[in-house]
Amino acid sequence: MKKMALEEKTIIAPSFELGPIRPPSEAYSLLIRATRNCPWNRCKFCSTYKGKKFQLRPVEEIKQDIKTAKAIQDKIKELSWKSGYGGGVKEIALMVLNNPPNEAYYNVALWLYAGGESAFLQDANCLIMRTGELVEVIRFLKGTLPSINRVTSYARSKTAAKKKLDELIELKKAGLSRLHIGMESGYDPLLQYIDKGVTAAEHVAGGRKVVESGISLCEYVVLGLGGRAMWREHATETAKVLNEIDPDFIRVRTLTINKRMPLYNEVENGNFVRATDEEIIEEEKLLIEHLECHSNYVSDHITNLLQEIEGKLPQDKEKMLASIDRFQSLSPEEKHNFIVGRRTGIYSQLDDLYNLPKREAVEQVIHKLSQGGNQVDEKTIYTLMEGFIS
Ligand code: SF4
Repeated sequence: MKKMALEEKTIIAPSFELGPIRPPSEAYSLLIRATRNCPWNRCKFCSTYKGKKFQLRPVEEIKQDIKTAKAIQDKIKELSWKSGYGGGVKEIALMVLNNPPNEAYYNVALWLYAGGESAFLQDANCLIMRTGELVEVIRFLKGTLPSINRVTSYARSKTAAKKKLDELIELKKAGLSRLHIGMESGYDPLLQYIDKGVTAAEHVAGGRKVVESGISLCEYVVLGLGGRAMWREHATETAKVLNEIDPDFIRVRTLTINKRMPLYNEVENGNFVRATDEEIIEEEKLLIEHLECHSNYVSDHITNLLQEIEGKLPQDKEKMLASIDRFQSLSPEEKHNFIVGRRTGIYSQLDDLYNLPKREAVEQVIHKLSQGGNQVDEKTIYTLMEGFIS
């Protein structure tokens, strides 16, 4: 029995803890879970950590995970030497990706495959750690895995606002390259309604401090979050806050709702009326029109109707607005066709409307979903969109 247990243990691949999410731009980053879950956890539109308790992890435990990531990296390098690839990791990483023994192995292989330069500290707000401890973790990470030259993490504006500028500068010096902040909106009544736990002024204070520290800042905005009642103010006030912060990146996502979100009940009981895709595009137009900053505007999320709305502000503003105009100038049938095509994943950009096989495929979908008609109802469209992220 003892022998069997030992054998079982020896064949178990090393592993380390992983949190549930990371930003899309960190898809190839090594994931190190420095904290667990979200210390706020009350936002009505978010279900990621609902029912889970926030925990700070002991620094020694985080270091152990980093050591394990290194052990996996070393194992992949060793295999490369043994397989005649001379220590080059791409080929072995690819083999591991096709048949990973566990999620941690998969993450390390993916990270190595992409060059092994970037790391993301999970979960929702690692900035809440004591500055000295976070500095220690970042230094240890970079010391243990010296190929890492970029370390990023999520943070809340409120936490950033509470940190001293010197502390943020210390983190920057230790190697913290970028913070991803979920701003969602800059409109106070909406922030209050969604229970974001932060005001527009705190967004500005936190964001400004990050910018001043030299840490790159990415602010996330949720299109459609104001619903039909607050869309105008959501757009204009969000632009105002972004203009004051002037972050390096503005990333937009479109509101999706699932049953685990408190907002779901608000929709069900009629307190929150969702905006349609066309209305959200009008909102995005208003947002962009009011932006007077120098940020990169990024639309890298499957939920966004027009992913082509991207560019560097202010010089690309007209180009971005032209994409919106192009959509808004379509006939009602073409708009509907495009929306269904996007929400079924058949289209990725406006030009796809002129791809005949794709367009015919969308027409068939419309015919089927509308049971022989030519209009798919709004509820079905929301369900299609939410299918991408469930
Ligand atoms: S702060 Fe972020 S992770 Fe936490 S509940 Fe709000 S949206 Fe979700």
